[in-house]
Amino acid sequence: MKKQFAFAAAALVLGATAQANTGSAFYGDAPDAHHPWAIHDWNRPQPPRVEPLPYDAEKAKAPAGAVVLCDGTEATLSKWECDKPEGGATKWIAKDGAFQCVPKSGYVRTKAKFGDCQLHVEWSAPTPPQGESQGRGNSGIFLMGAVECQVLDNYDNETYADGFACSIYGIRPPLANALRKPGEWQQIDITFRRPVYEGDKLVHPGYMTVYCNGILVQDKTQLDGTGGHKKRSTPGPYPEVGPLKLQDHGNPVRFRNIWLQALPPRTAADDAGINGPLSEEATAAKRKEIAATVRADAAKLGDKPLDQMLRLAESLIYEKDEATAKDVCGKLGAYVAGLEALPKNKLNDKKDEVKRVRGAFQYLAKFQCCGTDCAPCATLEKIVKAHGWDKK
Ligand code: MG
Repeated sequence: MKKQFAFAAAALVLGATAQANTGSAFYGDAPDAHHPWAIHDWNRPQPPRVEPLPYDAEKAKAPAGAVVLCDGTEATLSKWECDKPEGGATKWIAKDGAFQCVPKSGYVRTKAKFGDCQLHVEWSAPTPPQGESQGRGNSGIFLMGAVECQVLDNYDNETYADGFACSIYGIRPPLANALRKPGEWQQIDITFRRPVYEGDKLVHPGYMTVYCNGILVQDKTQLDGTGGHKKRSTPGPYPEVGPLKLQDHGNPVRFRNIWLQALPPRTAADDAGINGPLSEEATAAKRKEIAATVRADAAKLGDKPLDQMLRLAESLIYEKDEATAKDVCGKLGAYVAGLEALPKNKLNDKKDEVKRVRGAFQYLAKFQCCGTDCAPCATLEKIVKAHGWDKK
């Protein structure tokens, strides 16, 4: 299946040079049973105009931990290389705080490879505008070198909808045209999730969410496959990582402030319960693991009996465990006996602490975490009530 991916990516690159020569109704793959539009179909409606939000300098900043791939300097340009021939020095230039595509020099790609990520890119189309349709300010942001978020000056320039700026090229037009004028900087924010396969079976569909100048333009758009020129994308496995590529489509498009934040792989996120409900088996295993971690932490609190009791009680939230429940109950018994031995004025000083402990055991009872009767719980309740500590 890896071969299939390589073929799709190669077709994409070869075909892209012909993008400007479109306009015919008899061009891309025809409609099929699941797609009412042909690929690059001029009958498909143009994205509606939505006014962009103002440039947001705060949201444009790379967060801590992100990989800065372009700050307009030679230093960050050195993180990129020529796509063809592979690995050669790029002829793109760093100028005026931005990278600029040098037409006919070829795509650039990052030397590093990435998978699922959050990506921020800013681009600016040449002025004055030249050319039309796919010939005006064309470049592209290729996630994993495979699927293109289109870069195109569509401010006042129609083209086929699935090749519009911020389209997933050949797959889905953007929800809106939220571009600024050519020469102004466009802020593109992408969340990218690659399709994940186990063998030939799709276990997580791939998708992209894209904001253009603060406006949602791709709403978790599912990736059938890699997308491409003229050919309908077909589902298939992606590799785990690939380079980020920027397209040379013959226009001196500029880029700046590109940063990328890797996202945890979904399989790992799923295993950790981050992505929503797990299977019963996976949930039980994870809860057992969390409980063990909490108990290990409690074991270190021998010199703080109250904290240790509460931490052990906390472990019962994740896993019922008879031995731990008995241990906690015994510790609560000792704690309550200590309270009962105090003179009334000293006990009053402990009101907040006692109520906190009572609250913990009420919680365990509410969620049926103990699985055992614990007489000191009732005694604790009596102490709170006898002192009227529940009254406001
Ligand atoms: Mg392009």
